[in-house]
Amino acid sequence: MIGSLAATTRQMPKEQAKRAKLVVGNWKMHGRLAENAVLMQAVAAGAATLQKGVRTAVCVPAPYLAQAQALLGGSVVAWGVQDVSAHTQGAYTGEVAAGMAADFEATFAIVGHSERRAYHGEHSDLVAVKAQRALEAGLTPIVCVGETLEQRDNGLTEQVVGTQLEAVLLVLSEAQAAKIVVAYEPVWAIGTGKTATPQIAQDAHALLRARMAQKNAPVAAGVQILYGGSMKPDNAKELMAQPDIDGGLIGGAALKAVDFLGIIQAV
Ligand code: PEP
Repeated sequence: MIGSLAATTRQMPKEQAKRAKLVVGNWKMHGRLAENAVLMQAVAAGAATLQKGVRTAVCVPAPYLAQAQALLGGSVVAWGVQDVSAHTQGAYTGEVAAGMAADFEATFAIVGHSERRAYHGEHSDLVAVKAQRALEAGLTPIVCVGETLEQRDNGLTEQVVGTQLEAVLLVLSEAQAAKIVVAYEPVWAIGTGKTATPQIAQDAHALLRARMAQKNAPVAAGVQILYGGSMKPDNAKELMAQPDIDGGLIGGAALKAVDFLGIIQAV
């Protein structure tokens, strides 16, 4: 099933050529002011020399948005947050509204990361609302989807990631859907050192693009789909060479400038 969908999207080389590559770091709950400064400056300096049509960004913990704005502003590296509230404002202790991130000129907002789904009980309907809030604030939501190992072993990958994506597509207009980034992040590959093979990743990306095409084919052809899950400089090239893989969402390797830049270089 996955294979046949992959075959369909392999017939879209023209559209694929239009999509720029995007490499986004997800710092998770790591960093302190001093070490962030070193990392941001090294990434900004390195990316400036490496970038050849590759967009780069780092999604930092919300308290460090001001630091990102100060140190990355004017560089080739954009910044973003790792989550946003489903609300715009109000009595929601501890939450960060998308508009607050936008105040610091954030570009991206990760929504639906598997760690939010697993540890904070976030379901796809909530993720969909968060994507809407991000878009309303002028941010680009990076909508994460991915199956667990058990779901994959039970042949449920297509159903799981398809349902996760469709929940978001359901609430977005076609114009909004054209503005999102999707990240395929198999849960079993996140932080495990176990990367999906290029073919496994490509098949999943192809099926996600096919699901998007059911809503709107031109939108599907233009939306960037990133791979995330133990991407490193030595496996990035082969993954990014796949026709439906438009870049990476990078966790652990984004915390070391040399690794993050190595991935950008591999594109
Ligand atoms: C992530 O958490 O989004 C991720 C891809 O992590 P890692 O690269 O460490 O697997």
